[in-house]
Amino acid sequence: MLAPWECIDAVAEALIPGGMLCAYIATTTQMSRIVEDLRGHGSFAEPYAFETLLRSWHVDGLAGIALEDLGGIRERARLRKPQRVTLHSWSFARLGGHIAYKARRAGVAVVHVDPRNTSRGCSACGHIDKSNRPDQASFRCTSCGFAEHADVNAARNIAARGAAGWAVSHAADDAA
Ligand SMILES: [Zn+2]
Repeated sequence: MLAPWECIDAVAEALIPGGMLCAYIATTTQMSRIVEDLRGHGSFAEPYAFETLLRSWHVDGLAGIALEDLGGIRERARLRKPQRVTLHSWSFARLGGHIAYKARRAGVAVVHVDPRNTSRGCSACGHIDKSNRPDQASFRCTSCGFAEHADVNAARNIAARGAAGWAVSHAADDAA
């Protein structure tokens, strides 16, 4: 297959003044290659590069996504303060925005849940205790003995709250 930078001469000849070359490339190395070659060629205006990611979701049956209300993310993002603020207010807000956008396109519900104790609560029995977390990565319930990776346990709690919240909000819809 021809790489875009191999076609620059032919494209420059074929294009009328003001014409446009659009190249799709997969890696940043390829992007610098095409940008450098276009600059070096001399007949093109400064190239404009942007990144796009388009991957559709395949949804089977009923599906939903539960996200913690953004305040709760602070509990798990144990970073020094300036980074924590950045992660909290920007990256996670953006991530949530992307998820909501893709979910809408796929017809998948997104529910925001109360983030309190999602990492300290036991997803098996509901027991909430700080000492359920012997360390950052582990969860071990001091009441029922249930053990799991701490993030997986928290994800189960978030999913359960999402399902419960969805059921409640739709019961209200049905009643109305
Ligand atoms: Zn338990």
